[in-house]
Amino acid sequence: MNRKGILVIVSGFSGVGKGTLVKRLTQKYDQYALSISATTRNPREGEEDGREYFFRTREEFGRLIREDRLVEYACYCGNYYGTPRDYVEAQMEQGRDIILEIELQGALKIKEQYPDALLLFVMPPDAQTLLTRLRGRGTETEEEIRTRIHRAVEESEGVEQYDYMVVNDDLERAVDEVHGLVEAQHRKISRHLDFISQIRQEVKAYAKGE
Ligand code: 5GP
Repeated sequence: MNRKGILVIVSGFSGVGKGTLVKRLTQKYDQYALSISATTRNPREGEEDGREYFFRTREEFGRLIREDRLVEYACYCGNYYGTPRDYVEAQMEQGRDIILEIELQGALKIKEQYPDALLLFVMPPDAQTLLTRLRGRGTETEEEIRTRIHRAVEESEGVEQYDYMVVNDDLERAVDEVHGLVEAQHRKISRHLDFISQIRQEVKAYAKGE
């Protein structure tokens, strides 16, 4: 049976808690590999190069684009973010499900290149919870927060292009829901056509020989 890795895109408004959600998902189930993006934004307190992101200058990021080393990239609130190609391809070959925690434009570019990708959008239980979380984490200036809220409004217009929505009200529940959706994607008929055809042939051969 086909157990080829699935590309799982996890998007959501800034402050919705998608970082915590994907971290927990990878801790709880070992079939996942979390892609680490390259970005030109500055590290937040506590972030490390090569752990949360590969922090790069604009010049270095430009080189990654020219050398075709990113599967996709996008500009988000004045900074560039992109998914490294090498890692994604290597993990897919090994049959692992790869989590890409990326924004809308990148998600749509991935869907064009990999139509089997699963696009999930994480929603807050309500708008107020989102604003409280975004302000409460204290990692952005007031101006950055405003830019991110405007970006959330833009992204909200694209949610219909995703496959499923997960509400992040209770972390463990949301993690299990994401895992359930990935497992359902693994069982799609279109992913098992060879296996189905093999069983069909075997049953037919048996029926003939009866
Ligand atoms: P943050 O600055 O809060 O870490 O990330 C800002 C936004 O960029 C988030 O929506 C995050 O999902 C997105 N992002 C992170 N890495 C990538 C990437 O490689 N590609 C794209 N398109 N978006 C990314």
